[in-house]
Amino acid sequence: MTKRFWLFSVLLLAGAAYALQKAGPLRGDWAPEQVAPDVYVIHGPTEQPSPSNQGFMNNPAFVVTDEGVVVVDPGGSVQIGEMVLARIEKITDKPIVAVFNTHIHGDHWLGNQAIRAKYPAVPIYGHERVDPKVQAGAGMQWVQLMLTLTEQATLGTEVVGPDHAVRDGDEIKAGGLTYVIMNNDKAHTDTDIMLHVKEIGVMFLGDNAGHGRILRHENGSFAGNIVALENALASGAAVFVPGHGRTGGAEVATQYRDYLHTLYSTVQQGVEDGLADFEIRPLLLPKLEPWTQWAGFDTELGSHISGAFLEAEAAAF
Ligand SMILES: [Zn+2]
Repeated sequence: MTKRFWLFSVLLLAGAAYALQKAGPLRGDWAPEQVAPDVYVIHGPTEQPSPSNQGFMNNPAFVVTDEGVVVVDPGGSVQIGEMVLARIEKITDKPIVAVFNTHIHGDHWLGNQAIRAKYPAVPIYGHERVDPKVQAGAGMQWVQLMLTLTEQATLGTEVVGPDHAVRDGDEIKAGGLTYVIMNNDKAHTDTDIMLHVKEIGVMFLGDNAGHGRILRHENGSFAGNIVALENALASGAAVFVPGHGRTGGAEVATQYRDYLHTLYSTVQQGVEDGLADFEIRPLLLPKLEPWTQWAGFDTELGSHISGAFLEAEAAAF
């Protein structure tokens, strides 16, 4: 056999091995919903990543203008990113000119890989604290977490994090519109950006708010999250896109702010009164009645109370 034949065989085998390294496409007819002129949101499931949802759980969004498409949070796997890309291409033949990632949680940004594969030069914006965390291992941890929770349905997903750092007050011009970056140090995490699209009055809240869904906090701040939502409400935006759950008006921000405020102020009072966190819980539960049916309420409440307790103690010290 010739050398060339061997080379060919090796390439063929490598190709087959590569194919086995990627799970199938995302199932389901995920229809983008128009939430404002030029703005579309694909409202994902409000569950934790699982084999049945293949890791899809966030709200990928995109803004379409004559000058190009801007994508916000293209999802938690290469398969989800490819779905988002395919839905965009059904609506427009304009190229993607920018991507924003709202924070470090991989269910929002691992889909970058699909966009980058088609648009190698597209800038991907994220808060300045995201990329160092991704490089330090958070990216691979998210790839592994999604593989585990979905039983390999996200196989083939690689770490493609944001490569353009932004901070509070930056204004990014993309696709003919202005994206004002809003960061309040610590909120849902310590990496959150909200995007105020000035000309059209649309606010992308990231995970600073869930709507119908209570979200896990990580290295964030309850007090900071409340302030972030106050800032979002003060912007004058009319359409609010949450990280998880339905898009709506100002109520998307006010309902989540009220949840956080009820939680934090009650815990703060408890700390002042010298109560332990298990003593605060029964005082808090009746006040949180409006949110008890929200997805994630039961699973997150314990960690929210203990997190708020530590924060209130530190603030009082
Ligand atoms: Zn998050």
